[in-house]
Amino acid sequence: MSLVKKPSFKASWYLIGIFKGMGITFSNMIRNLVKKAGNDKISLAMKTYNYPEEKYEYGPRFKGNHVLTVKKDGSIRCTACMLCATNCPAQCIKITAAESDDNTVEKYPISYEIDILRCVFCGYCEEACPVDAIRMGPEWQTAALNGSDFSYDIKHLAYRAQLKGGIVSRVDEEERHKAGI
Ligand code: SF4
Ligand code: SF4
Repeated sequence: MSLVKKPSFKASWYLIGIFKGMGITFSNMIRNLVKKAGNDKISLAMKTYNYPEEKYEYGPRFKGNHVLTVKKDGSIRCTACMLCATNCPAQCIKITAAESDDNTVEKYPISYEIDILRCVFCGYCEEACPVDAIRMGPEWQTAALNGSDFSYDIKHLAYRAQLKGGIVSRVDEEERHKAGI
C-alpha cells in the first residue's frame, strides 16, 4: 500500500512561491543594473561596449570557432575517423575520407566542412575526437556577407590567417617534448 501525503495549504498555494521567486529575480536584476559607487553616486553596473572598436573578452575556457590542429610537418592531424560528425547533434560536419600514403595513418580527410550556421557550439565534436584534431578556440566573430562563407573548409579551419600557420595538437606537442625537439 502506498501512502500519498496531502500537500500542506502553503505548498499547494503555488502563487506565493511564484511571487517569491519573481521578487528574488527582480531584486537581483535591480542589483545588477544599479550599484552604489564609492562616492555614493548611483552608476550603471552593466558596461556597454562600442562594438566593433571595443570587444568583450571571454574567459580562457570559452568555446568559439573551430580549429583543426596540425602535425609538426604542417599537415592536419585529423584521421577522418568520423567520431566528431557522428556525435554532432546538429549534423553540421561533413567529412570525405581518403586512404593515406603514410603507413602510420589509415585515413585522412580530403574534405572537412562545418556548416557554422547550423552549429550550436556544444563542443561534442571536440570531446569526441580521440586525437585532439579539432578544438574550439577563442574566436567568436562569425560575420560574413555570403552564405557560402559560413561553410568552413579545411583551409579555413586549419590555416586561416588568425591561426598564424596552424595550431599544433597536444598529441604532437607531447611527442615533440618526449623527443626533446
Ligand atoms: S560544436 Fe556541436 S554542433 Fe558544432 S560542430 Fe561541434 S558537435 Fe556539431
Ligand atoms: S576531427 Fe577528430 S573525431 Fe573528427 S574525424 Fe578527425 S580525428 Fe575523427
